[in-house]
Amino acid sequence: MVDFDLSEDQLTIRDTAARFARDVVRPAEIALDRMADPDQAFRSDVFRDAMRQAYELGFHKMGIKEEHGGLGLDPVTRGLVWEELAAGGVGIAAGLLAASVAPAFLSVLAPHKTDLIDAYVRPFCEDVEARHISAWGSSEPGIGSDGSNYFDPEVHHETAAAKAADGYVLQGAKSSFVSNGGIADLYLVFACVDRTKGICGSGVFLVPYGRGVTRGKALDKVGLRALNQAEVAFEDARVPEDYMIMPPGDHYPMIHNAIKTVGNIGVGYLALGLLRAAYEEALSYAKERVQFGRPIAQHQAVAFRLFEAFQAIEAARGLLWKASWTLGATGLGDLKIAAAARVFATNMAMKHSVEMVQILGGYGVSKEYALEKHMRDAKLLQIMDATNEIMTIKGAALL
Ligand SMILES: Cc1cc2nc3c(=O)[nH]c(=O)nc-3n(C[C@H](O)[C@H](O)[C@H](O)COP(=O)(O)OP(=O)(O)OC[C@H]3O[C@@H](n4cnc5c(N)ncnc54)[C@H](O)[C@@H]3O)c2cc1C
Repeated sequence: MVDFDLSEDQLTIRDTAARFARDVVRPAEIALDRMADPDQAFRSDVFRDAMRQAYELGFHKMGIKEEHGGLGLDPVTRGLVWEELAAGGVGIAAGLLAASVAPAFLSVLAPHKTDLIDAYVRPFCEDVEARHISAWGSSEPGIGSDGSNYFDPEVHHETAAAKAADGYVLQGAKSSFVSNGGIADLYLVFACVDRTKGICGSGVFLVPYGRGVTRGKALDKVGLRALNQAEVAFEDARVPEDYMIMPPGDHYPMIHNAIKTVGNIGVGYLALGLLRAAYEEALSYAKERVQFGRPIAQHQAVAFRLFEAFQAIEAARGLLWKASWTLGATGLGDLKIAAAARVFATNMAMKHSVEMVQILGGYGVSKEYALEKHMRDAKLLQIMDATNEIMTIKGAALL
């Protein structure tokens, strides 16, 4: 049976997200985008207030199981929310998505570690002030796409975790791309335990801020300026033994690809929300703006552009719902559907956000409208959580 109907609960949560996106996320996102100093942006009340209100509404804990304090929402319902939040502001939405990565990972991979669940997952879920924000770090200056290079024993994370009597000691640094890197209080760190096994020699560690962790300055970048990204360094960062929540080994590609499945679906929804926002703004402008005696929406070249964007939105949403539904139905999801959805949605967001700028003519490149911002933001979505080329390689390998 195929059914595109949404339940009453889904409609309610989607409408709540849409209102929050319009009233809180959108103005905050625009203000943050315009702040010249990114570090100042993430210290500002604008950022803190938007995050605090998102936590109050529970958007940070949607995917965490109810038994651990989360909302336990299914992947399709979460997707509805991410589309709305991203339509309001894709940078803030991306930061919220990343904020839960460590507690969510812990909740799924190590539910038996009840002390860690009590220490890190429950307080995160109870948080209504956005005091607990997490981040994950795999990328390093020398490890970008190589994070998916499972086959070359010479390629490994330089960030290392050495066994000590009372646990592990981490040394090294993650790249300046780590989402929430400069503001998190809990890090999920991919660190090499066994150099002879290449990337598969890495384990995944929980490292709280305050244990030999240094947070870098916020990256100054062309888009997603409302998403904090910063280097994170570890100097004698000591953690107890059970803070290794995934050991190194041959299971690494399977777990890493499962993380990519969830992550790529998230990135796809960010792109969908961005694309829809760009389309809606261009459509409403094109119906108002009169040239050659009629609204420009009635000129065929403009109408075709709008219809192509509409097609892309519907197609991207269809793929993403299928990817989300598959994730909910199977638990692990299907990486090739997730990759197809993400690569398609992000490529469409990039292509059509440029086209939507064109519809506004000169006004499209002015900061009076958000179109130029959508175009800048879209570029980063084709790179984040593995580039579209790498996700295409992964998807193709599964055919
Ligand atoms: C918005 C954003 C958020 C991010 N958040 C995080 C985060 O939270 N944590 C984290 O650890 N990292 C994060 N990253 C880093 C991200 O995962 C990397 O940027 C990405 O994996 C690419 O790595 P790289 O930038 O080093 O590019 P490289 O790997 O150097 O690639 C450069 C180019 O070469 C291409 N390329 C590389 N290998 C191949 C190949 N085999 N075949 C074809 N083409 C290839 C790539 O597609 C790309 O076009 C984020 C990045 C962005 C932009």
